[in-house]
Amino acid sequence: MNTRDIKSMEIEELKELMADLGEKPFRAAQIYEWLHKRLAEDYEEMTNLSKSLRQKLKENYPIVSLKPLEIQTSKIDGTQKYLFCLPDGNVIESVLMKYEHGNSVCISSQAGCRMGCRFCASTIGGLTRSLLPSEMLDQVYSIQNLSKERVSNVVVMGTGEPLDNYENLLRFIQILTGEGGLHISQRNVTVSTCGLVPEIRKLAREKLQITLAISLHAPNDEKRRELMPIARKYQMEELLDACREYLQITHRRITFEYSLVKGVNDSPEDAKELAGQIKGMNCHVNLIPVNPIKERSFVKSAKEAVEKFKIKLEKYGINVTIRREMGSDIDGACGQLRKRFIEKERSENEGIFGY
Ligand code: SF4
Repeated sequence: MNTRDIKSMEIEELKELMADLGEKPFRAAQIYEWLHKRLAEDYEEMTNLSKSLRQKLKENYPIVSLKPLEIQTSKIDGTQKYLFCLPDGNVIESVLMKYEHGNSVCISSQAGCRMGCRFCASTIGGLTRSLLPSEMLDQVYSIQNLSKERVSNVVVMGTGEPLDNYENLLRFIQILTGEGGLHISQRNVTVSTCGLVPEIRKLAREKLQITLAISLHAPNDEKRRELMPIARKYQMEELLDACREYLQITHRRITFEYSLVKGVNDSPEDAKELAGQIKGMNCHVNLIPVNPIKERSFVKSAKEAVEKFKIKLEKYGINVTIRREMGSDIDGACGQLRKRFIEKERSENEGIFGY
């Protein structure tokens, strides 16, 4: 961890920092509250700290605060897509979705991704870097500040593989759900993984109450390998075994994400095979009609095929929902807004420098 990244510090670390600076321990709680409850973006807002302490902190412990570059709002359902600039100039995107049960924010855990899922726009340029806990937190904080909407649910399902950024993810969850901050219930936090088996087993032992979502997307290894390179490393049997272990330790129902691609994984036989694979598990399948991206030839399954797939799974006693499409009139698929921005920057630079 960057030892000067104050927004990524847990309260005990802040207390140590105050001791190092010759300050009273209660200052740590004050600063923590300003950062994580009142969502201050500048030390000047922290009026109950002395001017000299504010100055010292400002000079040595900059507060990570994301800069919004673009906000798109759906006219259909009010979904908002945010393009944020990180302190080093990298860009990431996050989404605010408004549901009857509350507001949900989908955050990115990395700038880019190295997992290479074939249907995903986020991975096309590879991984640039993993995000710090503060950069994950500030997606939630900035959206709450900008939209003036209270965030009650957080899904780590945007760009990046969260379990490929394991330690930072854990710290993010602790601060986000801890008492001194926004105190979002762990039950309202979902982490989505493409299936990193050792990390799933490790996560099971962290004693968190979060929801784990597994991007499954296929009923067998052969089809999964076509869509997701990670399936070459971990077979489905190993992955499902890790899920069973996760269930046994945490008693938290697992979600399986399943993107339906026309003619690839959406037949009734696929549904039957999938049901056989996950039979008897305390789980739930979320069907996602895949969002087309121009670099790939995948086509979204027809509405009727999605409906049939759902009915077939239900016939085998599987709990299923079809994910509601949110913000379909704005850059829909995950990673597209960021990708469009990077491409535009590149073509402008090429224009300037003539290469
Ligand atoms: S779906 Fe997730 S894990 Fe797969 S490439 Fe995209 S961002 Fe990475």
